[in-house]
Amino acid sequence: MDNQDLIAQALQARKNAYAPYSQFSVGACVRGESGNLYTGANVENASYSLTICAERVAVFKAVAAGKRKIRALVVASSTAAPPCGACRQVLAEFGDQDMQIIVSDPEGKTKTYTLGQLIPQSFTRDYLTKK
Ligand SMILES: [Zn+2]
Repeated sequence: MDNQDLIAQALQARKNAYAPYSQFSVGACVRGESGNLYTGANVENASYSLTICAERVAVFKAVAAGKRKIRALVVASSTAAPPCGACRQVLAEFGDQDMQIIVSDPEGKTKTYTLGQLIPQSFTRDYLTKK
């Protein structure tokens, strides 16, 4: 699937990052099950641990809109950084192992991973119910 629309939206969302402490602005965009797009940007806080990543903002917006499945994610940053461990766990809740995770630099140069590559053997709801 062509993800140029997600890349463009993630780069645009990055402009709204609130990153006065790290200066590391990140934008994200996810495609929900219906094809709708949801964007996010990182939001930092003077109490540093309250900071939330762009990826989780985007996923939570999708979930709050009623979506329960994420098909693809683009993360845009100056260094095309992949999602942190906390975001990978959140993605594992709503994405399949073959979900595409695309990292982009400001010029739109990308690298693509699958969720399974970034968080293999993830803890999921299945473990809560299996006997
Ligand atoms: Zn993160």
